[in-house]
Amino acid sequence: MIAKVEPLTPARSLRGPFDYLLAGALEDVGVGSMLVVPFGRRRLLGVVVDVSADSELPLERLAEPIAALEADVPQSLVALGLWVAREYVSTPARGLALVLPPGTGTGAGRPLRPKRSLRAAITPAGEAALRDGVRMGARQRDALEALASAPLGAAALARRTSCTHSTLRSLERRGLIRLENAAEAPRRTVVERVGADARGVSLTAEQQAAFAAIRERLDDPQEPLLLHGVTGSGKTEVYLRSVEAVLERGKAAIVLVPEIALTPQTAGRFVERFGDQVAVMHSRLSQRERYDEWWRMRRGEARVCVGPRSAVFAPFDDLGLIVVDEEHDGSYKQEGDPRYDARTVAERRAAEEGALLIAGSATPRPETMLRCERIELRERVDGRRLPPVELVGMAGTAGPLHESTRQALDEVRRREEKAIVLLNRRGWSNFLSCRACARVWECPNCDVTLVLHRGLGEVACHHCGHREPVPQTCPDCGSVSVARHGAGTEQLERELDELVAPLPVFRLDSDVAAAAGIATVLRRFDEAPAGVLVGTQMVAKGHDFPDVTLGVVLDADATLRFPDFRSEERTFALVAQLAGRSGRGERGGRVIVQALDPSAESLRLASRHDSEGFLEAELRRRELLGYPPYGHLIRVVCSSVEPGPEVEAATAVKELVAAAGVPALGPAPLFRRQARHRAQLVIRSPERVPAITAVREAVEAVAATRAHGGASFAVDVDPQ
Ligand code: ADP
Ligand code: ZN
Ligand code: ZN
Repeated sequence: MIAKVEPLTPARSLRGPFDYLLAGALEDVGVGSMLVVPFGRRRLLGVVVDVSADSELPLERLAEPIAALEADVPQSLVALGLWVAREYVSTPARGLALVLPPGTGTGAGRPLRPKRSLRAAITPAGEAALRDGVRMGARQRDALEALASAPLGAAALARRTSCTHSTLRSLERRGLIRLENAAEAPRRTVVERVGADARGVSLTAEQQAAFAAIRERLDDPQEPLLLHGVTGSGKTEVYLRSVEAVLERGKAAIVLVPEIALTPQTAGRFVERFGDQVAVMHSRLSQRERYDEWWRMRRGEARVCVGPRSAVFAPFDDLGLIVVDEEHDGSYKQEGDPRYDARTVAERRAAEEGALLIAGSATPRPETMLRCERIELRERVDGRRLPPVELVGMAGTAGPLHESTRQALDEVRRREEKAIVLLNRRGWSNFLSCRACARVWECPNCDVTLVLHRGLGEVACHHCGHREPVPQTCPDCGSVSVARHGAGTEQLERELDELVAPLPVFRLDSDVAAAAGIATVLRRFDEAPAGVLVGTQMVAKGHDFPDVTLGVVLDADATLRFPDFRSEERTFALVAQLAGRSGRGERGGRVIVQALDPSAESLRLASRHDSEGFLEAELRRRELLGYPPYGHLIRVVCSSVEPGPEVEAATAVKELVAAAGVPALGPAPLFRRQARHRAQLVIRSPERVPAITAVREAVEAVAATRAHGGASFAVDVDPQ
């Protein structure tokens, strides 16, 4: 047999797959196995992407692999990894690294052990049992029949029949088969807890109807579903029932959530309901723990994977359901290469593997609205109305808080209640300038201003992490008068401290998250009898605090001032999501939204909780402009240390793309970032595959040209 092996090397130029001859001990190797192979004088790690009977090369010229490693990635995932590589214009190695056991990708330090080739052979007693029709389970019988003709490796046997390691162990105990080279004792047995706690709540009529519609689809998924439910409508409970139904059908489920640290409650509810059958892939896990969880799923001990975007690659080979919770969340897009979108990958995976996809949100994206069949939850579980939202204009107001906001916060103080205040800007001040010569403090690596972080005593760049001590004097003119402009969460925290004292104020942004930990801050706020939570968009994620009576959004139209076709969508979602955090308890609640221009359409719609109306208007606008979901965007950013090569490279790419019949806009200069000059091309095309292909070929061609050696390339399909 011939194994087609894709080498796991970051080099773009070394592109497989390459053929290797499988013989002897390695005959059990199949698609998804990892091999150490000779390559010239080197040894490389590679993944088997195909196995075939013949090769284009003469057999005697083929080398044999040096060793096989324990990996055993499901075949469907190998295909998915390669698809991600193509779809997001990356390399096969990077695509495959996503589906391998954690830590075994292109990087060093891999905790891989040599593959244990557990082989099974039928015994005379086993042959007799088959002949005499001795009673045994279907799996045991299937396995015995498969072994009747020849011994097989355990992995091959599992692929061919539904038998698991425990099937093999019981056959061995009955003396019907012999296992050789059995290295590992079986792990702890699975704790069956399905349904144990599920009787706790009875579904509302709306939840019941939603669940019924989902259950009907489980056996024949076809299109993906959108669970469009207002905040607090009990979507999570519907997911839990759906997962339970999938497990009952003997299949596995994936639940994608935004950053787990931000929404620990959701993951917790899955563990509570399904116990050890859940693998939670949170960011605090060590490499080793990730690796162990991967194998727990691969061996079928864990049947539900709850995690952020990378959980879409959970190694199940019998997937029945993928849930994407809070599907509007930006964290589903990966920022580094490959820049995949877990929502798109989930859709692909579900379609390929016959699983059902459910995307859920109170503020779904226009894309999802168009592509999915919609199920609605219009009411909050507790029957409460969504809180009234007041829009206030900031023109003529000095300081960050409007008079209405001050009064509302004062009321919270007097009545000893809870409030959440959102300002999507961390730090103390946006930027510093010299009062004498107007010098503005900028990052030496990026063309952006440095943000003052007073608590840390430094100014920092939010793009590259550069930091320096707070300036006392101006290096240009020597003046000691430095002005601070704009307010961030740090300054707001101080202001609120004074306003609501003696109530405590809790700050949540990535500065605090790095120090105290997100969960700690959320827990303190939850446990406090009264107080104010202030922070960036982190405070608007799916938390469920029943006693919040006031929500405030500051500078709500800041996002609208960015030239981006998604700014309307972001603004709407931010306000609607924060509104969802308020008024969940008996005391009800209200929301105040501060904006420079409170008449903006997306704010008005959000204030009426009208996501239906927003989506309709937004889809019309997108269609007119050819934006997603009616067109596809691809961004190509070329960069270089010296100015010049980045523009030349972008121009070269543009010409090649245009020659393939795909028009591109640009090159447009981007601000310098991480000490690199950048130029950007934007491709907007009604046709997806031809555009991606044209870009991939153009970038590969230009990157391979010596003349453009000074430039680097980053391709972003479906940029956020
Ligand atoms: P969503 O995800 O739609 O915002 P959640 O699933 O978080 O809403 O539900 C909000 C709250 O309502 C949670 O505390 C949840 O436990 C509770 N809940 C959900 N379904 C029911 C039900 N059928 N009966 C009573 N409480 C429920
Ligand atoms: Zn100066
Ligand atoms: Zn910088």
